[in-house]
Amino acid sequence: MIPKLSDYSRIVGRDNIESIREEAEPLAGRHITHINSTSAGGGVSEILNTMVILQNELGILAGWRLLKGTHTFFTITKRFHNALQGEDIRLSDSSRRIYLEEIERNSIMNHLHSHDLVMVHDPQPLAMIRHYPKKQPWLWRCHIDITHRSQPVWNFLKPFVNRYDGMIVSMKEYRQRGIRIPQFVVPVSIDPLSIKNMHIPRNRCRRLLSQNGIEPDRPLLCQVSRFDKWKNPLGVVRMFELVREKLDCQLVLIGDMATDDPEGPVIYNKLMEKVSGNKDIHVIAKRADLLVNALQRMSDVIIQNSRREGFGMTVTEALYKGTPVVAMNRGGIPLQVRNGRTGFLISSPREGARRCIQLIRDDNLRRRLGKAGKEHVTRNFLITRHLLDYLRIFRSYINGRQA
Ligand code: UDP
Repeated sequence: MIPKLSDYSRIVGRDNIESIREEAEPLAGRHITHINSTSAGGGVSEILNTMVILQNELGILAGWRLLKGTHTFFTITKRFHNALQGEDIRLSDSSRRIYLEEIERNSIMNHLHSHDLVMVHDPQPLAMIRHYPKKQPWLWRCHIDITHRSQPVWNFLKPFVNRYDGMIVSMKEYRQRGIRIPQFVVPVSIDPLSIKNMHIPRNRCRRLLSQNGIEPDRPLLCQVSRFDKWKNPLGVVRMFELVREKLDCQLVLIGDMATDDPEGPVIYNKLMEKVSGNKDIHVIAKRADLLVNALQRMSDVIIQNSRREGFGMTVTEALYKGTPVVAMNRGGIPLQVRNGRTGFLISSPREGARRCIQLIRDDNLRRRLGKAGKEHVTRNFLITRHLLDYLRIFRSYINGRQA
């Protein structure tokens, strides 16, 4: 289904939609492109899928380009990602050379001369900027929590960042010292009408679960995340085992493989080794938006056990469905999980297990937190607010105030 702005008015109100249309008017006919490194898997592609369509409905000629690269290239860019999240990584000369050469190839293939604005998402395409004469503003949209970044990789990337005209981060704490360009704070969002988040009747949810071997009437814990060490799925298994000692329940770990994350299959294999033979644990590796939707609705608790989390759209998605979240107190998670109000923030598997048990046993608590979570997301983290924030930033550049 192609999203239409008017469809969102029943969720966020007509006034909000009107404000969006007004803000976009001076941008009609302007040519904008978004660049990122994967069309599926992970939060960025999730957002662009709706964002680019809505920008076009508003009369903006918004496009979406994808970075092409070899397995080696994406192994290197995943190392950037790991280093920016805090892993101590040193880049060899040959890694730098391969990265820069692949970026140059992409730049030759992508003509970005007539655009009014270019928006680059995350570190993978960051260095493309060095190949363009910069006739238009370039913005870097960083979706990662880079506050714990490892210095050598940041030293390599920072000069590219400083060539941009502005940088957008998801939380005010993510703004960087030593960056000479304006830094904006824009939290991310979910699309309430996508297949992942639209309403689905309970019967349909039950059928979807049964078709995947999950028992709809047994207590259910679930984490929805790429198979990535930062999402710590093995830690979720430990937490589940502690819960399972006290009460009957099942665990689902569902993750799709992003084309720009070569570490996915490695983590998946480790996980399979760990859980083999345990009938209470279901590991599902496929892209299945409707099933994710059903799982987020039917779970007693959604877990997000991340060691780092730029924002955590899976948390937003679960809260929007009225399901409480038990999550590590990291990155963008506490913006969404208000401790004791929309879920629980934890700092260890033991604490996580205790909170899961408490929630499974207490229907009223689950309902109360779930209701508050839905309200919190509806007010703050839907795509319409995100769109309006971007339009304001686009206008400030395209009208020449910042450029
Ligand atoms: N996702 C999905 N299927 C999966 C696992 C993840 O569709 O099996 C989606 C998830 O619903 C969310 C996005 O991928 O929309 C992940 O975004 P998040 O911000 O949580 O983490 P990221 O992967 O961007 O680090």
